[in-house]
Amino acid sequence: MISPVAQATDPWRSHPARIVRIAEEIGGVRSYDLVLDNTAVRAAYRFVPGQFNMLYLPGIGEAAISISSSMATPDLLTHTVRSVGNVTAALARAKVGDPVLIRGPFGNPWPVDRLADRDVVIVAGGLGLASQRSLIDALARHATACRSTAVIHGAKRPADLLFQSEYAAWKAAGIDMHPIVDVGEGGWSGPVGLVTKLLDTLPLDPQSTTLLCCGPDRMMTAVAEKAFARGVPADEVYLSLERNMSCAVAHCGLCQFGPLFVCRDGPVFSFDRIAQFLAVPQC
Ligand SMILES: Cc1cc2nc3c(=O)[nH]c(=O)nc-3n(C[C@H](O)[C@H](O)[C@H](O)COP(=O)(O)OP(=O)(O)OC[C@H]3O[C@@H](n4cnc5c(N)ncnc54)[C@H](O)[C@@H]3O)c2cc1C
Repeated sequence: MISPVAQATDPWRSHPARIVRIAEEIGGVRSYDLVLDNTAVRAAYRFVPGQFNMLYLPGIGEAAISISSSMATPDLLTHTVRSVGNVTAALARAKVGDPVLIRGPFGNPWPVDRLADRDVVIVAGGLGLASQRSLIDALARHATACRSTAVIHGAKRPADLLFQSEYAAWKAAGIDMHPIVDVGEGGWSGPVGLVTKLLDTLPLDPQSTTLLCCGPDRMMTAVAEKAFARGVPADEVYLSLERNMSCAVAHCGLCQFGPLFVCRDGPVFSFDRIAQFLAVPQC
């Protein structure tokens, strides 16, 4: 008989789960709280911030989605999803109680164990914040004793800023929040412009700063260049890449990135490891 731990960690096996809560986040984006059906699998399942699951809807398909919930509540797996195609649009039609199959967790996470005594700068473009929410939660709970944490979150409009209801709690936990929007409408009194504008003015010590970025490739490249201009070394700049993927276990080659596979070696990479491949357009 296969043990529950072997079952839970088998990367080819999808595990039945149920949607227990759906939260409307911003336009076209919802968070789905999922609970694995099998108690032994649930107990064996653990993830680290930055990892993702493959969510499978039978008859429709599978999509890679970051885990956006707290490591402190591993029984409840939240996925924050923008409806763009087959699987995500089907999820947008789903209701509480509906089944979803989970395969995972997959991927190289944020470098949580390297953040002690560091000044952590988190930069998120749009939905990129979903992949960083569990990390911010861990830092807010002081699970990692970093020296300071600043979050720069950029969105098109004020209504597109993700997880706004959590900013007060994050601030209360000592996290320095810096939201910025492209278009300052609806009484917005905060900064207007790109995330790089805020990065220019953020006081930072290049010797002690680790920068963690998630968003569109072009934005991440611009952020990394700003960080280098401020003296932050390339091995202290981490990017989470998003690429089309299918197997999630480095077999199919869909997410191959030079000699690396985004599903296995990423999605989180230090900049120095991937710099030479970033300029190559994805197919
Ligand atoms: C590691 C990782 C983590 C991710 N986390 C999240 C998340 O937390 N929330 C979320 O909403 N999405 C996330 N994504 C993106 C998600 O996997 C894709 O949008 C996925 O293709 C949606 O599946 P679908 O069947 O709905 O769309 P499809 O029908 O497969 O495609 C819809 C459209 O999106 C394009 N597309 C497909 N995959 C990608 C991709 N990976 N990047 C850019 N464009 C793509 C297609 O070319 C097509 O135009 C993540 C992707 C990766 C690789």
